[in-house]
Amino acid sequence: MSKIIELSALELRDAIATGEVSATEATRSYLDAIESLNPKICAYNQVFTEEALQRAEQIDKKRSAGEQLGSLAGLPLAIKDNICTSFGLTTCSSRILDNFRSPYDATVVEKLIEADAIILGKTNMDEFAMGSSTENSAFGITRNPWDTSRVPGGSSGGSAAAVAARLCAAAIGSDTGGSIRQPAAFCGVVGLKPTYGRVSRYGLVAYGSSLDQIGPITRDAKDAALLLGVIAGHDKRDSTSVDRPVPEYLAYLDKPTGEGAKRKLRIGIVKEFQHDSIDPEVLDALKKAIGVFSKAGMEIVEVSLAHSGIDIDSAGRISSYAIACYYLIATAEASSNLARYDGVHYGRRTSQKVNDIIELYSKTRAEGFGDEVKRRIMLGTYALSAGYYDAYYLKALKVRRLIKNDFDSAFQKCDVLLCPTAPELAFPIGQKTDDPVKMYLSDVFTIGANLAGIPGISIPVGLSKSNLPLAIQLLANVFDEQTLLYTARLFEQTSGIGRLKPEMIKDA
Ligand code: GLN
Repeated sequence: MSKIIELSALELRDAIATGEVSATEATRSYLDAIESLNPKICAYNQVFTEEALQRAEQIDKKRSAGEQLGSLAGLPLAIKDNICTSFGLTTCSSRILDNFRSPYDATVVEKLIEADAIILGKTNMDEFAMGSSTENSAFGITRNPWDTSRVPGGSSGGSAAAVAARLCAAAIGSDTGGSIRQPAAFCGVVGLKPTYGRVSRYGLVAYGSSLDQIGPITRDAKDAALLLGVIAGHDKRDSTSVDRPVPEYLAYLDKPTGEGAKRKLRIGIVKEFQHDSIDPEVLDALKKAIGVFSKAGMEIVEVSLAHSGIDIDSAGRISSYAIACYYLIATAEASSNLARYDGVHYGRRTSQKVNDIIELYSKTRAEGFGDEVKRRIMLGTYALSAGYYDAYYLKALKVRRLIKNDFDSAFQKCDVLLCPTAPELAFPIGQKTDDPVKMYLSDVFTIGANLAGIPGISIPVGLSKSNLPLAIQLLANVFDEQTLLYTARLFEQTSGIGRLKPEMIKDA
């Protein structure tokens, strides 16, 4: 049998179920891999070695006693460090939470554990999920396993790098404006952002509450379906989670049923997303993907997302309504959500001498937050302040509606939208750290899905000339994750592009 860490989550689960591999062997293999590669990649903030091995032993016992096993039995998984676990720390890669122990598990963590998964550790991220490169972590930069001088994307860079480098069977990330899909694209793995409300946000540390969603990062589309099936569903502790039955995502991939299965799928190509500012290799990958889908018998149609396109002014400055709208709404929500870190309610408190409560707040926050988080709190506070609210925040909400309307009309004409995940490939560490706006443009193709609440997936489609992963993004209408996953799976099957494996793993 092939090496344990080369198996997909589904293959490993089946191997554990038949007894071919034990949960303990699987966990040990991943812990060994983490020991040898994590110092180079910095994907994990914490690893739960003892606890993971104990859990694995319990699952092996359960199996030998002939008890019913959960659908993720024995799978070693990684969790982004903004998702609460009652064990270990939940830091959000921020100094302000560097000693924070959550008293409870997030709903997704409860569900994973109930399905008999094993939690290996918590992964690195941009502080409070603000960023596109994982360079904004207080605990060091995660490196891209394909080229350690480059970023893994962000903000779920730790989770994506861990999946790509075979440091877990699969991982969980969060996506507010692309933070699952963009790092998945940069690391050559699959990243799925579900429909807003599909997965409970209870226990996800809030960034932009109307945009945040938890989702899986995996080696392939089948694994994404497997994990989504476990974490999706209504939760009375999250009033924005939607009470709708959870489809059998995995079964649907092999045997689509219902309305969608009968008709020929229509793939929409977004007119505004074929821009000169996009890396030619990204555009080329998109063209090839169109070829794959049309060969597979799908109908290709052109659609327009007029308010999500990119504009370049006479001075060469790139702009986009979607980016402007997102960075007002996300920062406004963040400024409110992050007000709770005051040195009293949660986490760190300044050790400097203070004279009053205001000084306690300001010194704690000045010490505890990094530059990007401070920038966003200031932007968001400004956008919400009296006198500016109508001009910025309210205006952004109106533009959000227009963006949603564009998607609604696009989905009249097609079932799935095909577009790039990011305008470029994994970029060198440090390249955009001095220019926040350049960094923000990294999300130009992903934020639309968050503003509209629709699901999106990024899948790897090959390698560039410089041996970096290339990806495409697929978007579907709300609650149509089945069609999204089905289309992703169809691409994997018909393109012949297998799971990508970085050189550093081949050498290991
Ligand atoms: N890069 C975007 C931001 O910085 C998206 C982050 C995310 O999805 N969490 O806000």
